[in-house]
Amino acid sequence: MEIREVGVVGAGTMGNGIAQLFATAGHAVQLVDTSDAALEKGVATIGASLERLVRKEKLTAQAAKESVARISSSTDLQAMRSCDVVVEAAFEHFDVKREIFVHLDEICAQPVILASNTSSISITEIASCTQRPDRVVGMHFFNPVPVMKLVEIIRGEATSDATYAVVEGLSRELGKTPVEVRDYPGFVSNRVLMPMINEAIFCLQEGVADHEAIDTVMKLGMAHPMGPLTLADFIGLDVCLHIMNVLHEGLGDPKYRPCPLLKRMVAAGHLGRKTGRGFYIYDAGA
Ligand code: NAD
Repeated sequence: MEIREVGVVGAGTMGNGIAQLFATAGHAVQLVDTSDAALEKGVATIGASLERLVRKEKLTAQAAKESVARISSSTDLQAMRSCDVVVEAAFEHFDVKREIFVHLDEICAQPVILASNTSSISITEIASCTQRPDRVVGMHFFNPVPVMKLVEIIRGEATSDATYAVVEGLSRELGKTPVEVRDYPGFVSNRVLMPMINEAIFCLQEGVADHEAIDTVMKLGMAHPMGPLTLADFIGLDVCLHIMNVLHEGLGDPKYRPCPLLKRMVAAGHLGRKTGRGFYIYDAGA
């Protein structure tokens, strides 16, 4: 199956990175978002990212120009009708994704594969909103998309071998390393990562060590590039809490209960870097 044109739904953090990745690999890209402002910001982010690659001599100025020219943006999901594969990267709410997949199923021709970049929603449930569950799959990229090498390919209950093979080949063509994962809460990445972060927060809550000491142990002792509390601030504490709740509810095991300190920080609006305060303080001058 030849993949020429690719659709990306959502021009936010992940969507613009995914659009950039496909465009630099030579694919025509249709980037769709509900908001003009998000599209403008997404396209500007891609431009700035490509400029950085040119400055670092990882891309020629000509290749950057051609990549930008391959991306068309629109607020109309109908733009997806000419695409061979669509990757959805809209808000992490089931209702939002259901509406998108119902419409994509109407708009896109039958052989088209519909992928979701969801971090925590069941691919089987998303697939069940369509008439083509065998052609629905999870394509879980990591932030920042152009840099991070991994793609978790999530197989829903009905995802066919043929669909998996196309998405695996496409991931390799993009220079990524695909890993096959079954449709369980948190997949592999968040099932392993988030309980570690949650346990680091329990250590902080119980006074086992302070935040810097906990991060130092994991950086220097385990060779992690970033300590778990720094990473939690980077991801967003609201996102961490949401994923712990998904694991707790989905797997029904008390070992996944979110740490009370995490809940309290989210309730207080201390969400990490994006609010200027999490386990560390990011306010200017602090
Ligand atoms: P984001 O909030 O930065 O961007 C989401 C974009 O989707 C926004 O621009 C919004 O306007 C748009 N959108 C919302 N509803 C839409 C609709 N109906 N049609 C078209 N566009 C719509 O979010 P993000 O961080 O890019 O996350 C997107 C998806 O990727 C989520 O499912 C998230 O779980 C997943 N994900 C995020 C990360 C991460 O590190 N941020 C990593 C892996 C996966």
